[in-house]
Amino acid sequence: MDENKQKTNRKCDSFFKKMTRQGIALSYGDVRLKTTYSEVLPKETNLVSKFSRNISLNIPIVSSPMDTVTETRMAIAMAFLGGIGIIHKSLTPQEQASYVGSVKHYLNAFIAKPVCVKESDLVESVLKMRLKKGYDFFSFPVIDNSGKVVGIVTRNDFDFCFDSSVKISEIMSKEIEQFSLIGDDIDVNTACQRMLENRKKILPVFSKSGTFHGIFTLADVKRIVKGDFKDYNLDALGNLRVGAAVGVGSDLEERLELLSRKNIDVIVIDSAHGDSRAVIDVLKYCKANYPMIDVVVGNISEGASAKRLVDAGADGLRIGQGPGSICTTRIIAGVGCPQVSAIYECALAVRGSGVPICGDGGIEYSGDVSIALAAGADNVMLGKVLAGTEEAPGITFWEQGRQKKVYRGMGSLEAMIASKASRERYLQGENSPSKLVPEGIESKVDYKGNVSDVINQFLGGLRSGLGYLGAKDILSLQELADFHMITGAGLKESHPHGLDYIQNAPNYSIS
Ligand code: 5GP
Repeated sequence: MDENKQKTNRKCDSFFKKMTRQGIALSYGDVRLKTTYSEVLPKETNLVSKFSRNISLNIPIVSSPMDTVTETRMAIAMAFLGGIGIIHKSLTPQEQASYVGSVKHYLNAFIAKPVCVKESDLVESVLKMRLKKGYDFFSFPVIDNSGKVVGIVTRNDFDFCFDSSVKISEIMSKEIEQFSLIGDDIDVNTACQRMLENRKKILPVFSKSGTFHGIFTLADVKRIVKGDFKDYNLDALGNLRVGAAVGVGSDLEERLELLSRKNIDVIVIDSAHGDSRAVIDVLKYCKANYPMIDVVVGNISEGASAKRLVDAGADGLRIGQGPGSICTTRIIAGVGCPQVSAIYECALAVRGSGVPICGDGGIEYSGDVSIALAAGADNVMLGKVLAGTEEAPGITFWEQGRQKKVYRGMGSLEAMIASKASRERYLQGENSPSKLVPEGIESKVDYKGNVSDVINQFLGGLRSGLGYLGAKDILSLQELADFHMITGAGLKESHPHGLDYIQNAPNYSIS
């Protein structure tokens, strides 16, 4: 992203300045984007963006860390689509880290803890072990009694072995340095190059100091390099990207340590009030102890808060206090800023810093995504839109002839009773259920099928929005966008109206 370019004035500045002068804050239903001359076709638009300084997205969509939205299946699906899923924190540190591990190992391009065999093992016992465990691969690193990697065996070594009573040490390739990759900053393209030179189906990776990191496997490296996974959101090693939420609770240190061991891509400090001492302390702890991991911080809704968090070291900001479909914060606590103005003010406060903005909550239709990005967001976080899909956690059930799934706020009474992490998000301690003060509700949403169908509709709508503004990508959208403020009559006119019956469309229904 060109940071200087970002610093320049934008077309919509005078619109929002006028609103701010009048003390008016706007939400999705209050505005529409002005169309303009365009030579851009929707299908030609580029939706690449960022979630944090170092974590890019192929589509500007993030799934929310909620216990009815993002666990392993959703996170895998989001990374496949080019976005990212944030695993919620109403899990023990061990459970959350294991969910992250399942996402990171899903493609297996790089395997951090591969199955190894010993040099003293007999070939026949390794072949039996393979069958017993159901492994469909023949390539293993070979270790000595002290656990040091001393060779590799691959399918060819087994095929050319006519006496299976010999030891693995007799059939393995021993020139381990020749068949390995040594370095601390390894990527999948270098790994592929080395595998082509070696003509071995696995490639052990060692740090410069000699520590064994894991192996690359040929089949997956090949798929990645050939571009079969080009739409996926992958890290430098070719594994799916995933994030995880942490709170300000007592298990923070253990949680971060376990997540970092699973190579988590990004940490999201998940709090209802991001501009608070406790959150800034957690941010500083993360940056001091895990400087290699990006940290996205929230939630906030004022420009001054955005500036404070960026100054404290945030790599991304999560904007939204109360816009969520299941939120009651604005009603119960009386606080928060309508979401379009919140996004604009926060983005303006840190414009030019290179810190991406996430518009979190309140997205109902795909047009809301165009509006959020045009107001300055780099990506949007979705809860309700993704809840009820096949990949969302929870079982489906039938009610009044419709298939449903539960969708609930993390500050709902039900979520707070179930999890300490939820109570901490809303700064509530060990209160008994009768003393908890919820800031969200529990709901049921229709079962929606696969998340890819839902997201494809949203991307189609967003691309269309870019086309109407002549914007080839998200940065151009932000530069070109200007807004109309609309009245209740304008909003009524915007929706289907004057009809007795409306047939739901794949991208439109009245909820
Ligand atoms: P949605 O996409 O459903 O409109 O909003 C989802 C967002 O609402 C989440 O990403 C999170 O920021 C916020 N959220 C989740 N649960 C609660 C809650 O119980 N109360 C409040 N105030 N916000 C919530």
